[in-house]
Amino acid sequence: MKGWQSVDILVSACLLGHSCRYDGGSKRCEAVCSLADVGHTLIPLCPEVEGGLTVPHAPCELRKTPDGVRAISIDGIDCTAQYEAGARIAVEKAQSSGARVAILKSKSPSCGCGTVFDGTFSGTLREGWGIAAAALRDVGVRVIDENHVANLEEWNATRDVDVQ
Ligand code: SF4
Repeated sequence: MKGWQSVDILVSACLLGHSCRYDGGSKRCEAVCSLADVGHTLIPLCPEVEGGLTVPHAPCELRKTPDGVRAISIDGIDCTAQYEAGARIAVEKAQSSGARVAILKSKSPSCGCGTVFDGTFSGTLREGWGIAAAALRDVGVRVIDENHVANLEEWNATRDVDVQ
């Protein structure tokens, strides 16, 4: 049987209006918030705050190095440990809630979905995933950004539904 059903969705907290971004702001997205109005359960997640970074904090970007991808702040501090801690918490939230879908903030070094800034702080994008987004994908969570909410509803309406 196929058809729409309500689902639990992990969501970048800044998309829900939480002021958790590095600059103390938010990125509230009505298309994402309105998913609650049609019955979905939105579970806020901010890997940077939950991983131990303060609000505000210096902006970070992902830099490819001989030691792998590192999260480096604009003033040269390696913050990879906090990003990895946030990613572990994201995975724990997915597993404890049973959420199999996440809507994450585009381009973020934690949450970016397929495109991130390249580590030069010049506004240049490259292909890649934020550290938490990649960790969620590794455990089988379907991860999209806020610009692809329509794809989520299309998938939800056509996927197989468990019949109890
Ligand atoms: Fe938003 Fe993710 Fe950055 Fe937190 S880590 S402010 S949820 S983009």
